[in-house]
Amino acid sequence: MTTTVPFFSTGDLSRELEAVGDVLHSGWLTTGSRAKLLEQRFAGACEADHALAVTSCTAALHLAVEALGLGPGDRVVVPSMTFGASAEVIRYVGATPVVVDVEPGTNLLSRRILERAVEDYGNIAACIVVHYGGQAPRMLGDEGLWDYCRERGIRLIEDAAHAFPSRSDAGPIGAVGDVACFSFYANKTMTTGEGGMLVTNDADLAARASIMRLHGIDRDVWDRFGAKSASWQYDIVAPGFKYNMPDVNAAIGVVQFGRAAGFRDDRQRVAEHYQRQLVDVAEVSLPLCDVPASWHAWHLFPIVLHQDAAVDRNGMIEALAERGVGTSVHYRPLHRMTYYRDTLNLDAQDFPNAEQTWQGCLSLPIYPSMTAEQVRHVTTSVRAVLGHSPPAHDG
Ligand SMILES: *Cc1c(COP(=O)(O)O)cnc(C)c1O
Repeated sequence: MTTTVPFFSTGDLSRELEAVGDVLHSGWLTTGSRAKLLEQRFAGACEADHALAVTSCTAALHLAVEALGLGPGDRVVVPSMTFGASAEVIRYVGATPVVVDVEPGTNLLSRRILERAVEDYGNIAACIVVHYGGQAPRMLGDEGLWDYCRERGIRLIEDAAHAFPSRSDAGPIGAVGDVACFSFYANKTMTTGEGGMLVTNDADLAARASIMRLHGIDRDVWDRFGAKSASWQYDIVAPGFKYNMPDVNAAIGVVQFGRAAGFRDDRQRVAEHYQRQLVDVAEVSLPLCDVPASWHAWHLFPIVLHQDAAVDRNGMIEALAERGVGTSVHYRPLHRMTYYRDTLNLDAQDFPNAEQTWQGCLSLPIYPSMTAEQVRHVTTSVRAVLGHSPPAHDG
């Protein structure tokens, strides 16, 4: 029997299917009680005062930069090693991205890197930190990003698309910082199909984002149809967006939320198997976990193939595909994307750590339903492509 390992699989979703069925039978498909419930539970898990369910993490990031009042003339720091969404929202509001390199091994933005950007550019209005792969940088103390931002009056936005559930030295992601944005995209750590969550302790920011989430209307859909005054009685105070999460999606999210801690433990188990079964492969760098393993969301398991390996990264991806193993690349950095390179005059030489990752990186499959046999098939395949025998260790 041949083993195949897709890059991602949702696993069994029969409980989610049942929950969606209930929503469809209820007759209330758009934002309502399911979205409210997901928000309450999510805010609780993040130890934050406010959580707003939205249509994507990109929408949450957009609402965050808008509600913080960022606009033309404001410089916003963003790491190069990320998905385009982290940077495009800076442009949505007319502000200027300052694209920076990342720390080696973790691919994280850090206080050290932000300090250098402040030295180079002077005024920085905000920083979008990306919890690459599912771990956060240090937040508190002399090396802490949040403490530095607080001292300097730099607004800290967390792109936590990879990071639920996870924590930093300051507690659950979302507990500190100005605002944190999570993704429930299909292959993220929990899903609503498409969806996201904005989390904040800032009551003014939450109020603004809530209004802008739904057309700039001064009360949300739930109040509009659930509360005392008639549904036509609303005012529009700003040209808002259409970012509210429907209950059809939120119902999936409520079930996934309940499974999220178990999902995380399962992904950590896969990561630990990978580490044991690949640790002796000299041509490969394994992802550096700079926090206790239990703080890490383990959304990704990105390895970096060294320049002197028998195959290059693209060759490895093709060879693994031939063996039935799906992979991905996180990421081709922003400084190599035409729009950001050309409009911001970015030079690859200024991003040595992101370049080092980009040249050799590929992400191995990691998801809760992966079997020990599938993990072993992946490691055996990586090793075989590089001319190594199967892993000695079985665990
Ligand atoms: C997936 C992702 C996003 C966007 O999430 P959506 O919910 O698809 O909008 C943003 N940032 C990072 C780092 C991501 O991986």
